[in-house]
Amino acid sequence: MRLKPRAENYHPTFKVKKNLNLTALIGQISKGFAAIEDKRRQTHSRYKQHDVMMAALSCMFFQEPSWLQFQHELQDNLHDNNLTHLFHVNQLPKESQCRDILDNIDSEHYRGIFNTLFEQVRTDKQLEAFRSPLTATGLFYVPMDGTQYHSSKKVSCPSCLTKKHGKGDVTYQHQVLQGAIMHPDCRQVIPLMPEPILNSDGEKKQDCEHNAAKRFLTQLRQDHPRLPLLIGGDGLFSDGPIIQHARALNMHYLFTCKPGDHSYLMEWLNAYDKWPWQQHTDEKGKTHRYRWRNQVPLSAQKDAPQVNYLEYEMLKDNTIVYRGSWVTDIEITLSNCWRLIQTGRCRWKIENECFNTLKNQGYHLTHNFGHGKQHLSHNMYLSTLLAFFLHQLLELCDEAYQQCRTVFCSKKSLWERIRQLLSLFIIDDWYWLFDWCLDPKHTRFTLVDIATV
Ligand SMILES: [Zn+2]
Repeated sequence: MRLKPRAENYHPTFKVKKNLNLTALIGQISKGFAAIEDKRRQTHSRYKQHDVMMAALSCMFFQEPSWLQFQHELQDNLHDNNLTHLFHVNQLPKESQCRDILDNIDSEHYRGIFNTLFEQVRTDKQLEAFRSPLTATGLFYVPMDGTQYHSSKKVSCPSCLTKKHGKGDVTYQHQVLQGAIMHPDCRQVIPLMPEPILNSDGEKKQDCEHNAAKRFLTQLRQDHPRLPLLIGGDGLFSDGPIIQHARALNMHYLFTCKPGDHSYLMEWLNAYDKWPWQQHTDEKGKTHRYRWRNQVPLSAQKDAPQVNYLEYEMLKDNTIVYRGSWVTDIEITLSNCWRLIQTGRCRWKIENECFNTLKNQGYHLTHNFGHGKQHLSHNMYLSTLLAFFLHQLLELCDEAYQQCRTVFCSKKSLWERIRQLLSLFIIDDWYWLFDWCLDPKHTRFTLVDIATV
């Protein structure tokens, strides 16, 4: 059966944005994938590279662990499937063929797609919700963090990082340095093209998060030359080389600074005899106290950068329940220190809203979709992240999706319904699909036999 709106009665309760809507965004991704050169010998290629890339994305988008079985069944029964209509997949590929083709696609091709989506968010003014008023132009806070998405003692490829254990055992891993734009007052995040942490040919030393961070920042500046950025990260990044690199790229920084890692800086700070705390108590009875020093040396090294140090404690019933400290190049004042603390504290979102969601909330990030010999593992991560990006945009600014979320008690149940509908009916339009979820009596829709249309 095929879903059709009743022409005389079709008045949806939501507005669809002109450019930042799911149909247009998926269309843009499809266009980007279609533009990637297919280096295979065409005579041997049954499935198009574009179809495989879109199918992988759709699989992550629908959070469907059994690849695209639900659409293959539809294709077998109705000789049509929803990926053709909703994801521009002309010919539905099988999982094994997808793996081989995806393995050969250079992951860098995904960069343009992330940048295209980002540009849509920016031109639609949705990025403004993420701008922090820490400088005259405002800054976009981009914390970066490493995460692992593959770990195995058996499955490996030449790019795998290796970890040797006692009796000659080796664990093979893939990691990535991920950055995302976030804001203390905004639940959603805008993911950016990540930097893989992997071994390359001829390198004797293993790649690491620190080196990947330098590459990530260089690339971020190339991708977004004029974006005013505040880079965040944990204590691993509060050292001279990363700080100098960020400043050379015209980026501000706000990195966690663990006192135990910076004894020289701590000695310097403790030499001040009077260093009073500022404090306030919030409506929940929690006391927040903070103090800072501008222009202190990060370390004893000759070329050590001068940093501004900020320390914060949260107390409940006179007990410290949270403690944080950061270094930044932004001059700390009474008027901006609370904003800096809130910004620094929202770094947890990259772990929680980004990585935990990808790993634990339906995306099956660490599920073994296959590892490949070259790029498969990382390309699956990128497909997952792209799907997550689309979901974040739906939540951030798509009225139809937002209405659907209020009707269903959980995100999980909404997506179950979407998969269920798409496994039974052919639905040609994303917004008909959302509207059908919102229209339980189906007054705005009718089902017609597929043979009659
Ligand atoms: Zn590998």
